[in-house]
Amino acid sequence: MTICVTRFAPSPTGPLHLGHAYAAILAHDMAHAQGGTFLLRIEDIDQSRARPEWETQIEADLHWLGLNWSDPIMRQSDRLPIYRRALQRLWTQGLLYPCICNRRDILEAASAPQEGAPPAVGPDGVVYPGTCRHLPEAGLPLPQAALRLNMRRALDLLGAPQLTFVETGSGPLGETGTITVSPDDLCNGVGDIVLARRDMGTSYHLSVVLDDAAQGVTHVTRGRDLFEATQIHILLQRLLALPTPLYHHHRLIRDEHGKRLAKRDDASAIAKYRSEGATSQDIRQMIGLS
Ligand code: GLU
Repeated sequence: MTICVTRFAPSPTGPLHLGHAYAAILAHDMAHAQGGTFLLRIEDIDQSRARPEWETQIEADLHWLGLNWSDPIMRQSDRLPIYRRALQRLWTQGLLYPCICNRRDILEAASAPQEGAPPAVGPDGVVYPGTCRHLPEAGLPLPQAALRLNMRRALDLLGAPQLTFVETGSGPLGETGTITVSPDDLCNGVGDIVLARRDMGTSYHLSVVLDDAAQGVTHVTRGRDLFEATQIHILLQRLLALPTPLYHHHRLIRDEHGKRLAKRDDASAIAKYRSEGATSQDIRQMIGLS
């Protein structure tokens, strides 16, 4: 039997709030209920926003919540050479191309064919209209370019792939059980996603699949808002010959107006409840995990 390995993967860009507490406790309790391992990963590739002070605060809040993780803590900022190696592999296979478009270029090009109709939006934003896909590579200033995945070529290389994953929680429309990822949706609804942002040398999607595999994560637990991104992760796992874990997307904690909690919502910060004398049991009760 495989031992259950879960992880909590916060970005150190602000205080933990009730939504993070929910995600962390769920992952922790799932591993412990099965005699497994709970891991921590600090997703700090966005160096313009990540701060060591937030990481310290996150660890203190998690300990206060009664959560312990197995060492070592993984930090994405330590793993840039690993991400680069994976990009080199995909580049050698002819699956990447440089892109110098900015947000405005993309929006304009994506809106142009439909004159006024809103452009298609996928889990990674506006579906890239392909402007740089056919440019001669020699003409592009590589250091200032992002690297995009040529989705059509990636699917062709895999040859009519059967892409599935097992969802043990549920997606936004109640999707659960074995979920089939459609190559058509990947081509038309997701498109040529960025795998290396020019300012980071990697992207959330690339890092998360490499890191989950490197940490031996067997059950990815995370918010339902990332359900749609999972199809991208399954595809990348295939391209990079990585295992596909089980996925458990969970409900999102909302404020009293039904709005999703954000990092800037200090009102729901764990640190605030701590300073007001709440106990970790109170927090579990507030989010329905006691
Ligand atoms: N770092 C992401 C976040 O803070 C979590 C990503 C994941 O769980 O895959 O929302």
